[in-house]
Amino acid sequence: MAPSGSRSIKRGCQRVLYWIPVLFIALIVAWSYYAYVLQLCIGKKISCLGEDTSVVYLLVYHAVFIMFVWAYWQTIFTKPMNPLKEFHLSYSDKELLEREDRGESQQEILRRIAKDLPIYTRTNSGAIRFCDRCQLLKPDRCHHCSVCDKCILKMDHHCPWVNNCVGFSNYKFFMLFLAYSLLYCLFITATDLQYFIKFWTNGLPDTQAKFHILFLFFSASMFSVSLASLFTYHCWLVCKNRSTLEAVRAPVFRHGTDKNGFSLGFSKNFRQVFGDEVKYWPIPVFSSLGDGCSFPTCLVNLDPEQPSSPTGSNPANKGAAEGRQFPSKPLRESQSRLLTSTPSWTESDSATDKDKKGASNPGMTIENEA
Ligand SMILES: [Zn+2]
Ligand SMILES: [Zn+2]
Repeated sequence: MAPSGSRSIKRGCQRVLYWIPVLFIALIVAWSYYAYVLQLCIGKKISCLGEDTSVVYLLVYHAVFIMFVWAYWQTIFTKPMNPLKEFHLSYSDKELLEREDRGESQQEILRRIAKDLPIYTRTNSGAIRFCDRCQLLKPDRCHHCSVCDKCILKMDHHCPWVNNCVGFSNYKFFMLFLAYSLLYCLFITATDLQYFIKFWTNGLPDTQAKFHILFLFFSASMFSVSLASLFTYHCWLVCKNRSTLEAVRAPVFRHGTDKNGFSLGFSKNFRQVFGDEVKYWPIPVFSSLGDGCSFPTCLVNLDPEQPSSPTGSNPANKGAAEGRQFPSKPLRESQSRLLTSTPSWTESDSATDKDKKGASNPGMTIENEA
C-alpha cells in the first residue's frame, strides 16, 4: 500500500478515536437525564417529593440542561477560525523564501511582509512568528494546533472533551459550557443530597432506582469539583485577558515578554470575550469583539516598523521611538487611562463601531448570530 494511503487510513482512525471522549460525556449526560428525570423526579417508587416541588425541580433542571447542551454543542461544532488571506505568503514570497537558505535573509523577507500587517508579537528570539506548515505569518495570539493541523486564531488549547480547538471563535461558548455544566452538576448534587442521605440511612425502597440516585450524586459532586476549579481558572484568564497558552508562556513583544500585554482592564477584557450587549452574555451565540487577527494592546511606545498601532495612536510616536532600542514600556492596567480616554479600543466603545470591526482585515465581519 502506498504510504500516503496508509497515512490517510491512520488519520481517519485517529479522527474516529478523537470522538470517544465526546461520546463518553454524551453518554454520561444522557444517563444523568434518565436517572434524574425518570428515576428521581417522575419515578414514584423513590420520590416522596410533593407534586409542586417535583415540577419546580423539573423546570429548573430542563432550563439548565438546555443551556448546557446548547453551549456544549456550540463549543464542539463551531469551526475554529484560521488566519485571513493577508497573513498567508503569496506565491512569489514563497518562492523568494525557498530560495534563501540563510535564516537571517528569510527573516528579512518575513519582516518586510509583516510591515503591512498588525503583528506585534515575536518569537522568544525576537523573530517574526512564521508557521512553516501553513506557510503564513502568525497573527498575534495565533498558534498552530498539531491535532487540527492548522493555525488557530487566539488559540487557547485543544480540548479532547469537545474534540475541537478552543480559540477565538468558540471561547465564549467554552466558558458558557463550563458555567452551565457546573450549574447542572451543582443543581443535581443539591437536589439529590436528601436521597443520598436516605440511601445510607436505609430510607429508600430497595429498588434499582436507588443505585441510580447514589451514582448520580457521586458523579455530579465529583464533576462539580473539577468543573469548579477549571471554571475558576478560566474566569481568571478572562479577567487577565490571557489564553491558557499565554498563561503557560507569556507573549513576547518587540520590547520583550509581557504577560499583561493584551490586558485592558477587567471590564474591557470581559467584553472582549462576551461582547458589549448584556443580553447576549449568557447565551451561546457569538458576540466576542474583534476579528481574532489583531488585538488591542497597552503599549506606550509603538513598534516603529508597524504602519499603525493597535491602540490607534498617531504616527508621531514613530519618531519618538526611532533611534531607540526597545524595550518600550508597556502600560499596566492601572495606567491604562490612555486607552479609556482615547477611542483606542475601537471594537467595543460604541454600537456604530461594530461596523468598523475587522476594518484592518476587510474579509472579516463579526455578527451577532441571534
Ligand atoms: Zn500553522
Ligand atoms: Zn486543535
